[in-house]
Amino acid sequence: MQADGKIKVLPEKLINQIAAGEVIDRPSSVVKELVENSIDAGADSITVILKQGGSALIQIMDNGSGMDEQDAIMAFQRHATSKVSSIQDIERVSTLGFRGEALASIASVSRVEMKSVLRDQIEGAHLYLENGVVISMDRTGGNPGTSLSIKNLFYNTPARKKFLRANSTEYRHCLTMMNHFTLSHPEIEFTVIHDDRQIYNLKATTLKERIIDVLGSGVQNDLLELNEVNAVFKVKGYLGNSQYYRKSRGDQYFFVNGRYVNDRTLSAAMMSAYGELIPKGHYPVYILFFEMDPERIDVNVHPTKSEIKFADQQMLFSLVRGAVLRALKKDDVVPNMQSAPAQQLSRPRFKSSIASELRVNPDQTRIDFDAQPQPGESQDPTPPAPSSPFMPAAQEPKAEQDDEKMLWQLHNKYILAQIKSGLVIIDQHAAHERILYEKVKSLMDSQSASSQQLLFPQTIELSPDNFEYLMEILPFLHKIGFAIKGFGGRTIVVEGVPADMRTTNTDRLVQSILDEYKLKQGTEVDIRERVAKSVACRSAIMTGERLSRESMSALIDQLFACDTPYFCPHGRPTVITLTLDELDERFERT
Ligand code: ADP
Ligand code: MG
Repeated sequence: MQADGKIKVLPEKLINQIAAGEVIDRPSSVVKELVENSIDAGADSITVILKQGGSALIQIMDNGSGMDEQDAIMAFQRHATSKVSSIQDIERVSTLGFRGEALASIASVSRVEMKSVLRDQIEGAHLYLENGVVISMDRTGGNPGTSLSIKNLFYNTPARKKFLRANSTEYRHCLTMMNHFTLSHPEIEFTVIHDDRQIYNLKATTLKERIIDVLGSGVQNDLLELNEVNAVFKVKGYLGNSQYYRKSRGDQYFFVNGRYVNDRTLSAAMMSAYGELIPKGHYPVYILFFEMDPERIDVNVHPTKSEIKFADQQMLFSLVRGAVLRALKKDDVVPNMQSAPAQQLSRPRFKSSIASELRVNPDQTRIDFDAQPQPGESQDPTPPAPSSPFMPAAQEPKAEQDDEKMLWQLHNKYILAQIKSGLVIIDQHAAHERILYEKVKSLMDSQSASSQQLLFPQTIELSPDNFEYLMEILPFLHKIGFAIKGFGGRTIVVEGVPADMRTTNTDRLVQSILDEYKLKQGTEVDIRERVAKSVACRSAIMTGERLSRESMSALIDQLFACDTPYFCPHGRPTVITLTLDELDERFERT
């Protein structure tokens, strides 16, 4: 190498500062690295003391293995680690750290003091470092474990210091980081003190209790347990049910082999599993721990290791989605009267109990398109034709029997039904939309859709763009049971419709399905979903339609036979409850 050339090898100190920039960009990343080290050292009690959001002081004290004098010095060398020694080790790494970079990086951008006492000792190493070099060292007495104080972060790298935000912001980042550890290690006691104020002291406990400690007691009745093993991974943890959601993604946690990760495939699988269970613009809550063969993942893709790479993302997606769907299915909750933020909702009622109180016929799984009362029918006291479950087969007119459902229709819009604890209110349009949506989706999956021939095939001339849309969705419409043919140009003939669908105004129906499909373009990218929602929306009974008792009763039966009865396909509630307790309270009877 030419000594007077332009290219020079960087001095060690500068290399460390540059490397530090990758791993240590703010106080919370120091917290992350040091707490990881404490966990790797087997600590079961960890205390974090912060001053001024961590920019003045970050002190981490643990009761882990400790280090002897020689290791205490070695620990601050770059690429010095006790955790891996070969490439095979890296592929199977089970500790949180393994790069041997953190302490060297931190020490290059702050003033460090460390005390470390081995497990069975009463005294140990005590050292000070500045600019990454040990400037003093002696022995000191103390409890077993390690205490590291990081002072004046970035004091020697002003450019980086400029990027620090307000103390309160940095402090919040530190707390968020701590959540990853408190949730993934309920067996460890954690204490956090900020500016001399104790923020929390979490005793060792079970995962569920720890989640309640960290997310707040509002979550405790709304957690569903997930525990599954398949060929690719083991997953355990908790999910919020459909009653517990947040306005941001803040409470979504994935851990893979003990490490917090932020992964698109996993998030997408969750969003897809929750589907419309949760209202638009809200986010489910979950804390899930995956264990899988380390050879299936690469944790090495990101310097702070919060991103990982899975070998087979597609398979992972569908396995995760399936596991979550099964857990969610076990729970069927109905929204309460106040559709207030999740924390304020009272204990949700279970589907089975509402359904049984309403004497829903559990075998009633056939779903009918034909909810429209035929002309005159709704006022007609004679039993309707048996062909449609919305006007179920004539039960002998056993008027006002004891076990008949108490049902009313309110303003041709809502159905009121009495249950033991009070009243349920059902939005007739939203409920029917849900029923039809699930029906259409299942028809799309099956090969068995039957079609009823129209007595008078309908010829429709479509606008150019509606014709294009029709071509796009025609295969799906055929699957559901529509029989539609081209008639030259933009003219089509509708020869048949799904078996149970009413046959009047078929041309209007097809047009409005296309219009709806076009409208949904902006919000729903999946063509199948868009078709299902459009067909459901356009063939559902409308607000303003009068329903017979039997129609109402059948609607309720079919609603509760749905997989997800409590929300329409757009995420609006279909059912709310009003309990006697709530009524008593409003009438000041208590
Ligand atoms: P890594 O964690 O990737 O090995 P670090 O720079 O974070 O690298 O730490 C270097 C080494 O110092 C670790 O491998 C470990 O042996 C030791 N060490 C760090 N912190 C602690 C601690 N709190 N208790 C015991 N040993 C520690
Ligand atoms: Mg480490």
